[in-house]
Amino acid sequence: MSTFHIWTLGCQMNQADSLKLAAGLEQIGYQPSHDEDSADLFVINTCSVRQHAEDRAYSRIGMLRKRRDNGEQFQIAVMGCMVGPKTDDLERRFPAVDAWARPQQFEPILAIADTALTERDVSEGELGAAQLIQWDSTYGKPAGPTAFVPVIHGCDKFCTYCIVPLRRGREDSRPSVEILDEVRFLAANNVREVTLLGQTVEAYGHDIDEDVDLATLFEGIETIEGIDRVRFLTSYPKDMTDRIIDAVADLPKVCEHFNIPVQSGSNSMLERMRRGYLVEDFEDRVEKIRSRMPDAAIATDVIVGCPGETEAEFQATVDLLERMQFDVIHVAAYSPRPGTYAHRKLEDDVSRELKKERLHVIEAIHAASSVRINQRLLAQTVEVLVEREQDGRSTGRTRHGQLAHFEATNRIGQLVDVTIDEVTAWSLRGREASALLLPVL
Ligand code: SF4
Repeated sequence: MSTFHIWTLGCQMNQADSLKLAAGLEQIGYQPSHDEDSADLFVINTCSVRQHAEDRAYSRIGMLRKRRDNGEQFQIAVMGCMVGPKTDDLERRFPAVDAWARPQQFEPILAIADTALTERDVSEGELGAAQLIQWDSTYGKPAGPTAFVPVIHGCDKFCTYCIVPLRRGREDSRPSVEILDEVRFLAANNVREVTLLGQTVEAYGHDIDEDVDLATLFEGIETIEGIDRVRFLTSYPKDMTDRIIDAVADLPKVCEHFNIPVQSGSNSMLERMRRGYLVEDFEDRVEKIRSRMPDAAIATDVIVGCPGETEAEFQATVDLLERMQFDVIHVAAYSPRPGTYAHRKLEDDVSRELKKERLHVIEAIHAASSVRINQRLLAQTVEVLVEREQDGRSTGRTRHGQLAHFEATNRIGQLVDVTIDEVTAWSLRGREASALLLPVL
């Protein structure tokens, strides 16, 4: 039996791609393996958003090459954002890699896997067991009660620091019929929560000849039996229409949980980033959300230390974060990405130390505001969808996306009411609400 192992770096889009590739590999006769040292095919699904992620991939390729030099026989494939339109440079640098595949373009990997499978079958006297099939719409087999569903690939925004449009291409929406079919397939396979994915998810539909937008998808999924929750990420303020916000407020299955990167609280910095909006536009969208859903959870992303970031610009970000009171703040230090406008034209002139210092300031704001927000849940009962269980402890997420733990077994895939006893900035701990009613023996 031939086996594969996929090592996934980066975002949820990569996780969804890995599942899709896994479905294709299983379709041609491979089995997934948790043991990376014995797999016949090792796939690295890469991320290019920061240098650190690329370095991890390079170092793993180096380790795999050494194993092959020592006589082990297996194939190596690399996919994802590190693989651009041309692979000549990468091929020269890493001759040990057998296949390179751009995001969502898995065919080179399926082709080498199929060839190897056929060769193995020939040597084992099982001619013709493998056939390269036409494979374009296989859905990834769900790994639990939650699943990611990419709805739009690529990005048209070209923020000056970002590599995504160069590696994942222009915005490309999937047909709504195909998306709803996939969600029905997931519901039939015990998935209860789907997260609709896009680099700018509210851009969904604008590039296809259909009268659809993200709200249309929400409306379609609302009618699919078995699905209890819908999430969506990542938002882009300019694409977030009133209609989409109203749909989140009005449709019971859509979680009132937003991920809207602001990136900076300074208009001059936003202009250098070419984000395409002003701080005032961003605040307008947050106000609209809070006017319709006062309890909505809002997470944001911030980058510190972008080229030319002055103390005043950084302070404007601090002020914005303190004013807006986000539930979660994801912060990253600027990392120049070759090929981007910022790398070519703007000097990376904020020192490492200062970036680190600014990072810590934002992390502290995040921790303080998350604890404050989570403390409001003490003694409250929240709905948790249980995703996993270990050592008698169940873990899942609330509708607002908070991680919650409680003592219970056999609850995976269930919506459980949990009364919260303890909170930190990162998680909640509580007891099953019905368990509180049990008499103490
Ligand atoms: S919106 Fe900007 S930061 Fe986000 S993926 Fe597109 S180019 Fe990158």
